[in-house]
Formats: sequence, C-alpha cells, structure tokens
Amino acid sequence: MPVPLPLEIKKTAPHEITVWWDDGHTSVFTTKYLRSECACAGCVSEITGKRILDPASVPDDITVLNAEHVGRYGVKFVFSDYHDDGIYTWTRLREICPCDECSRASSEKAKT
Ligand SMILES: [Zn+2]
Ligand SMILES: [Zn+2]
Repeated sequence: MPVPLPLEIKKTAPHEITVWWDDGHTSVFTTKYLRSECACAGCVSEITGKRILDPASVPDDITVLNAEHVGRYGVKFVFSDYHDDGIYTWTRLREICPCDECSRASSEKAKT
C-alpha cells in the first residue's frame, strides 16, 4: 500500500492538531499526545529503543508553536516547551493516529 500523504496539517484548537490525508482519512491529535510520541534521541534511547520521556512529565497545556515541513517526508513540530528535535514522518504520523479505526488496526497487528 502506498504511504498516505497529508494534504493539510493545521492547528484546529489550542491543544489540537488535525491532519487531513490524501486517502480521505482525518487524524486528530492532542498536542500532549504528539509531544509524548516524540521519537528524537532525547526522548527515546537510540540503544534500547525505549522511551526515556515520561509522558506524565509533559504539561497538559503544551501547545504547538510552529510546524515545519521536513523535506517531502515529514514534519517537525515546535512545542511550547521549545522541544523541536522530533521529526514525525508521514508513516509514523499515520501510525500513531489515535482514532478508533487506526488504534483497532494497530492492536490487531500487535496480536498477530
Ligand atoms: Zn524529543
Ligand atoms: Zn486514524
């Protein structure tokens, strides 16, 4: 399956980022969730692949100050805690989509 590409990425509420995909799917992320899913070297150990960042340490009122495209493959969010090291590739952004449909699909994948 081809990787879906985002048509638009927009801040739709103070703590919400919405992504519209070219296959008709829509992903709504809370900024706190996006921040806790950051996969940069400071948030995830490069050696063990384990998450160093404690999601509980992410402030509830964290927001996204800016979103910058990274080449043609992803986006970088600048969070209000000035953390901007994480690159969210389109594939990953779609993988972490928190909607019912996607979380069901990924939990089924984990079972097999
Ligand atoms: Zn990070
Ligand atoms: Zn989804």
